[in-house]
Amino acid sequence: MIDKKFYHTLSEQLESKCVQLVAVSKTKSAEEIKSMYDEGQRIFGENKVQELLSKKPLLPSDIKWHLIGNLQSNKVKQIISNVELIHSVSSMKLLAEIEKQSKELDISTNILLQVHIATEETKSGFTPDELLSELSSGSFDNLKNTNIHGLMGMASFTHDNNQIKNEFKQLKSLFDKFKSEYSKNQDFKILSMGMSGDYELAIEAGSNMVRIGSLLFGAR
Ligand SMILES: *Cc1c(COP(=O)(O)O)cnc(C)c1O
Repeated sequence: MIDKKFYHTLSEQLESKCVQLVAVSKTKSAEEIKSMYDEGQRIFGENKVQELLSKKPLLPSDIKWHLIGNLQSNKVKQIISNVELIHSVSSMKLLAEIEKQSKELDISTNILLQVHIATEETKSGFTPDELLSELSSGSFDNLKNTNIHGLMGMASFTHDNNQIKNEFKQLKSLFDKFKSEYSKNQDFKILSMGMSGDYELAIEAGSNMVRIGSLLFGAR
């Protein structure tokens, strides 16, 4: 069951701060997604390619689908024309594959680069140093069919709010640095950070896009 009252309170709160809401609908049914759509939500996030592709045809066509989970190179071709934004581009190899397949389909694919800020090894992404060195060596200058709109990151899974705050602050300062050195791309403006448990800390630290699942749809 979706919590409609909470949804409206949250979306007003986020709107007043110019923060975009990605409603994370993984494991939830098309009916549950439709009921949140009927409340006004248009951006939905899924973490699996197959799940996104199987729900999409069952739902209104003006939904903006975001892929937020790990993407394997062999699924790039299927997903790129079906999403508004991919949050989880975590390696140069994946970026190259997205560029190649987007060229073949003659489309432009919008992406975020995922940064590893957490302590857990299981979370993927570029390290801040890697990202800055790729940027200064010009790796992002020749992209024609891939548009880097910003950065995404996940904080550690911990109850230590200070640690979470520090990780978000670290990502925000990386975002600012990247933005100023990547001024040729005026579309670079999204900082996707914050989930159900830590979105308030993320917004305080400068997030402008949060990805919220369980608080909206109930536990998975
Ligand atoms: C599942 C997921 C979320 C949402 O998690 P909640 O804690 O349910 O809000 C956000 N981002 C990513 C990458 C996820 O996989």
